[in-house]
Amino acid sequence: MAREPQADPTGDTVGNDDSGGARGFGAHGPSAGRPDRAGVGGGTHVGSRGGSDTERVARRDDAVRAAVEQGLLGPGARVVALLDVTGIRESAAALRAAFDAVVAPGTPVLHAFAVKATPLVPVLRLLREEGIGAEVASPGELALARAAGMPPSRTVLDSPAKTPAELREALAFGIAVNADNPQELERLDALVRSAGSRSPLGVRVNPQLGAGSIEALSTATATSKFGVALRDEGAREWVVRAFMDRPWLSRLHTHTGSQGIPLSLMARGVAEVHALAEEINRRIGRPQIDTIDIGGGLPVNFGSDVTAPTYAQYARLLREAVPGLFDGRYALVTEFGRSLLAKHGTVVARVEYAKSAGGRRVAVTHAGVQVATRTVYAPESWPLRIAGYDAKGRPKQGPAVVQDVAGPACFAGDLLARGQALPLLEQGDHAAALDTGAYCFAHHYAYNSLARPGVYGFAPDDGGRTVFATVREPQTVEEIVAESGGAHASALTHLRAPGHAHPHE
Ligand SMILES: *Cc1c(COP(=O)(O)O)cnc(C)c1O
Repeated sequence: MAREPQADPTGDTVGNDDSGGARGFGAHGPSAGRPDRAGVGGGTHVGSRGGSDTERVARRDDAVRAAVEQGLLGPGARVVALLDVTGIRESAAALRAAFDAVVAPGTPVLHAFAVKATPLVPVLRLLREEGIGAEVASPGELALARAAGMPPSRTVLDSPAKTPAELREALAFGIAVNADNPQELERLDALVRSAGSRSPLGVRVNPQLGAGSIEALSTATATSKFGVALRDEGAREWVVRAFMDRPWLSRLHTHTGSQGIPLSLMARGVAEVHALAEEINRRIGRPQIDTIDIGGGLPVNFGSDVTAPTYAQYARLLREAVPGLFDGRYALVTEFGRSLLAKHGTVVARVEYAKSAGGRRVAVTHAGVQVATRTVYAPESWPLRIAGYDAKGRPKQGPAVVQDVAGPACFAGDLLARGQALPLLEQGDHAAALDTGAYCFAHHYAYNSLARPGVYGFAPDDGGRTVFATVREPQTVEEIVAESGGAHASALTHLRAPGHAHPHE
């Protein structure tokens, strides 16, 4: 059925329909701001920004102090991850308001959060409450969405390597599936033939528009592994035929953006997919494609506390570039990840030692490659801002000193920041890695058997005091042993090729 995003077994309709008065969207409008590079390295001392950005910084400062005061951070807990619940709610509201402002009245819109950005069940539950769905790309992510109570009608499955069993399960649940390639479409053919399906089914296409500034994240290159490459010889005609032959195919999907991709390129990708939908519907002679999934990929400003670009800016750009997308004939699905969560996460680590090497000041902290893997291995692409806090969790004052902020892992490159100017970090202080709510601390990397830090959500209570809720318990050393084969300690010594005597026999 066409307008799937609206249907919701919980009776809690998704899309712009329920985003009106009750949720008070007007009050949470996105606070547009200019990208403001002046804030680089300054942490809490930033130049101009919108009101809600300023409030987010104040909440973060309060949370770091409260985390120290309440013992979340301390001798036994050297690194924690904090999530700003108020900020996440505001971003979800801003996303909904941005598209509500540009679609024809009554157009169903499903904003499916890309679970890979922050795969934490309580985060998905919070987003569900804010009217957001889930884009999943593995059995694990689907299980997380289900554990959060995400309804199938708000779930979209997109992985490039779906097995027959995964496809069968998705169809049994009624989850939307975007087929990545012709072979996957053949698997769907067989399933639809044998069991039928309530799932909205679509095809992912790659408009092959070229790369952004980060090669590893550029999904729309000529040779990208994702989707049907539209400009390859015969591919466009193949896609049109695929829809003509399958009356049950009702969606087109593309995801051309990501960090480092300019908005104009993203808009061109959406325009290409819209034009293809128009062509297919024209040739079939009816509006068989009723939903366009425009993917996610809005870049995040990691240079300062300013939210830029905003969802409102992107939605307005899309309306200018692809007006037909918003005339009410197509339901919309979006799949934003990083832009919803990045600015609402902070990793805070104790400074264990402060030293000097070759004239460079180095703060040795407990946050490094295990929580900020991309930054450590690709620092040029993923610079992080560090904010300094003192031993009591108060913003660190003093003249800016160029310093490195190092992690605890045993290799030289384990640096959260290189040559960043901030008040000199001293032993017992805290270093906060800002804008780490997406693709960071929930993507633990087990180097040196470093433990996964606890993740805590925070919000002010009625009296303005910061209260915390556990999102994920810190990993214990016992758990590390268990996950490292602790139950199979003699598994290898018991394996012996015939004729090889035990060395001690
Ligand atoms: C990763 C991904 C997204 C989310 O991308 P962000 O850059 O985090 O917004 C959306 N859709 C698909 C198919 C993805 O692979």
